[in-house]
Amino acid sequence: MAALTSALDGPRDPRLRHHQRVPARVARSVALPAWVDPGLAMALRGEGVDRLWTHQAQAAEAAWSGTHVVIATGTASGKSLGYLLPALTAAAQGAHAPGGRGATVLYLAPTKALGADQAARIGALAVPGVRHATYDGDTPSDERRWIREHANVVLTNPDLVHHSLLPRHEAWAPFLRALRFVVIDECHAYRGIFGSTVALVLRRLRRVLARYRAAPTFVLASATVAEPAEHASTLIGMAVAPVTDDGSPRAGLDFVLWEPPVVETGGGQRRRSAAAESAGLLASLTGAGVQTLTFVRSRAGVESVAAAAGRAIAVAGGDAGTIAAYRGGYLPEERRELEARLRSGSLRGLAATNALELGIDIHGLDAVVMAGWPGRLASVWQQAGRAGRRGGDALAVLVANDDPLDAYVLDHPEVVFDAPVERTIVNPDNQRLLAGQLCAAAFERPITEADEAIFGPSMEPVLRDLVAAGSLRRRPTGWFWPLDTPPEPASLRAGDKVVAIVEERSGRVIGTVDRSSALLQVHPGAVHLHQGTTYVVTDLDLDDAVAKVVRGDPGWSTIAQSRAAFELAEPRSAAERGDGLRWALGEVIVRSQVVSFQRRLPTGEVIGQHPLSLPAQELRTEGVWWTMDPQALARAGIAPEALPGAAHAAEHAAIGMLPLFAACDRWDIGGVSTAEHPQTGLPTILIYDGFPGGAGYAAYAHTIGDEWLTATREAVGRCDCATGCPRCVMSPKCGNGNNPLDKHGAVRLLEFCAARLRAPGSRATGSRATTMPADGQVGIAG
Ligand SMILES: [Zn+2]
Ligand SMILES: [Zn+2]
Repeated sequence: MAALTSALDGPRDPRLRHHQRVPARVARSVALPAWVDPGLAMALRGEGVDRLWTHQAQAAEAAWSGTHVVIATGTASGKSLGYLLPALTAAAQGAHAPGGRGATVLYLAPTKALGADQAARIGALAVPGVRHATYDGDTPSDERRWIREHANVVLTNPDLVHHSLLPRHEAWAPFLRALRFVVIDECHAYRGIFGSTVALVLRRLRRVLARYRAAPTFVLASATVAEPAEHASTLIGMAVAPVTDDGSPRAGLDFVLWEPPVVETGGGQRRRSAAAESAGLLASLTGAGVQTLTFVRSRAGVESVAAAAGRAIAVAGGDAGTIAAYRGGYLPEERRELEARLRSGSLRGLAATNALELGIDIHGLDAVVMAGWPGRLASVWQQAGRAGRRGGDALAVLVANDDPLDAYVLDHPEVVFDAPVERTIVNPDNQRLLAGQLCAAAFERPITEADEAIFGPSMEPVLRDLVAAGSLRRRPTGWFWPLDTPPEPASLRAGDKVVAIVEERSGRVIGTVDRSSALLQVHPGAVHLHQGTTYVVTDLDLDDAVAKVVRGDPGWSTIAQSRAAFELAEPRSAAERGDGLRWALGEVIVRSQVVSFQRRLPTGEVIGQHPLSLPAQELRTEGVWWTMDPQALARAGIAPEALPGAAHAAEHAAIGMLPLFAACDRWDIGGVSTAEHPQTGLPTILIYDGFPGGAGYAAYAHTIGDEWLTATREAVGRCDCATGCPRCVMSPKCGNGNNPLDKHGAVRLLEFCAARLRAPGSRATGSRATTMPADGQVGIAG
């Protein structure tokens, strides 16, 4: 094994469960195409680029010939040249046209950091005739006008297209009329509810462009995802050709699957957490001179990994200051300082959330440690791809967490090394999103029946509802927005609404949390960790979006508890799947409330339970649910008294395994189970999308039930614990304190379901809808 892996404890360490050498890839290159603008070709030669990797050339040629194309190759494979060649050539050559605006380019990035990187890149090329400008929320208004009238390459984001460009498209008319290319960078970031909204914004853009008789070519760039062409086509609503054969060279990578050891705790034996184990690896790797980036799922986890690694280094006589934490909630100046120190090498180790995934360019890392499965296989490879950029060998370590998915991966390395990455899911048919986007579209230009070709078959029913609600007017020529002012623009990003965490004494903002998780994370009394410092929350004001905290470590941690009830609408699809299993998909309403929190000592001992008075939340979304016949279950060995624990445990494990199939993470989905739901009258398990209107995850889960529940049954069945543990049926986000849970019952229940879903012929065609009374039910919240 290479020198890097010897910085671990060697190949015979029992923690090393699997080692895979990912071979170096040999470069394949071709000459620059003849059509590339001479000024651009000269600038590239000045950078030392006189040939292209084959995938860059393939994408550039397709785009130049007018084919919508998506380039989906590995991290650091130089995807940007695939779109820069055609885009900058068009801009440079168009600049010679009368008026100088012969061709324009619109570049969209999901983050400001990525847009800034590309702006710097284009600026450095300094191609004669290319006038590029960044246009975002921070652009001063006097510059905005110049940009609209004179720039031929505009770098912005989908948010600005939604909030500003489309509602004021007349001001952009000359730019839009000349639009030749639309570049959508890092398009894998547009997934889930954010991706669904961006897909609708892009449909609005195409509709406005049609008015200016512009039909630009779309060029998309993506990290490696499954079926990138399908994802890109769903995003823009038109067929897209894929380029996936990576011609760039790659350093050899040693990839290791790592299982933390069993340790004694106050309450008995359990495996050390992935975070604690990763902190140890971070300390030992940096101690051996290996610059290491450690990815941790949660923000709080980032803090504790960096703090623990720093302590370990200090104990060994080193400088704890060479390790730092980096997470999304930091203030920009804190982030910039960390980035600069990592580049200069004064920082040897960094613990980070996957905020780094989105194109923020950090070079020179020798090793990447992942504290637990990062949610998606695509993320595994993106994060591993951060290692070894200097051309030397690289090391990636995936440290397993104590949960069903990670345990399954340790037993099935082929899931990492041989499986296709997950599907990236967007749902432009989300009717709730469509309603808002149709209002915005009607303001931009009246909607006609022909627009169904752009918005799809959900358009007409949603328009009918909007007219009935008085939001739109129906006239013979189409649907109109009735006011002179545009509709209130909704945020594109579900996670964008944040609650500021403010230190009460100084008034200083120390960080932020997503609004959706504020009730769970920063409720009054919660203990909150930031940059290694512990705070206690004294007040949460959701109207002002502020949580007040005081500094101090009370010596315990807190965990919020919630209650949930669910109501099922008429299913969109429901079918009997063999004896005693009914499998359904449809709209659901989930009502939940954070009702109390527990205080726990570091040993896990609960030292107090405290009621909370916080607002209830209602989520109208899409879910997959199934009911089981209690008699059939009893024949399968699940007695009625075992049912609540079996169903609850099966629900947890199923949530934990879905991210292996769909590009979501377990925090994007929720679940509730009950031994008897008043609507169905039967034991019922519900898994739902955690976003209003649905993000498409449950709908996808509904189509892969056999594989999903088969893998879930195997993951739970293989776990060697006695009665259930975090690696099989316990959930880190259970609102019920992981009670009741019946691991063995769950295995039987999952086998009961999986066998019926697998059975040939059980896949009933068509949908048999059942009407159910609308009535709530208190169940067990996932
Ligand atoms: Zn277990
Ligand atoms: Zn639960």
